[in-house]
Amino acid sequence: MKMKLIILGAPGSGKGTQTSRLKSMLNIPAISTGDIFRNEIKEGTELGKRIKKYLDSGQLVPDEIVIEVIKGRINQPDCKNGFILDGFPRTLEQARALDEIVKIDACINLAVPKEIIVKRLSARRTCRNCGEVYNLLVLRPKVDNICDKCGGPLYQRDDDKEEVIEERFRVYEKQTAPLLEYYRQRVPVITVSCNSVDAPPELITNRIIDGLKKLKLIS
Ligand code: AMP
Repeated sequence: MKMKLIILGAPGSGKGTQTSRLKSMLNIPAISTGDIFRNEIKEGTELGKRIKKYLDSGQLVPDEIVIEVIKGRINQPDCKNGFILDGFPRTLEQARALDEIVKIDACINLAVPKEIIVKRLSARRTCRNCGEVYNLLVLRPKVDNICDKCGGPLYQRDDDKEEVIEERFRVYEKQTAPLLEYYRQRVPVITVSCNSVDAPPELITNRIIDGLKKLKLIS
């Protein structure tokens, strides 16, 4: 089934975790601009060198760079049957550019209070090798500091450290939060709230799946 989804939510609201779960359940590729950028930096590419300063400081990468990257990715053959976008769009300009490339079927909105997010972000660990995301509070790896999926080492992203978290929040409130209203006026929005620090990720996934069923996007 073709399904083009975006997932919105503050940094640390669980977008990455939910995207990774939905990707396997719905069998569509997950596209995370954050993962793409971290990979470019790790590989030391020209693009990686240009964008490192933004990621390090919690600022957004300039729109024209992000839009170019996402256009290239969405045009790959594996996206023909749909996709889920995680971390894009993050500004109104990006949302407008996306509208010109594809028609989005639904927007998933993860509503999580800030105090829960700050606790979660400081407990987040990421696989250096494959990018899989863990959480020391709710989603621990089977073996400490080792990725369940690929055996790679887990690390704490520099931007998950307390100093940068605050800045990412400010950027989110100012530049990304207004997107919710933009999408409410254009596509069905599935809002799932999470009000506890240790809500199991599968509970949230089930609510998203219910929302997609109600919209008849899946049966
Ligand atoms: P994320 O993994 O989604 O939290 O993204 C990590 C960082 O990558 C962000 O703090 C930004 O510096 C950059 N980034 C990711 N996606 C975007 C985007 N759509 N627009 C601008 N910057 C982005």
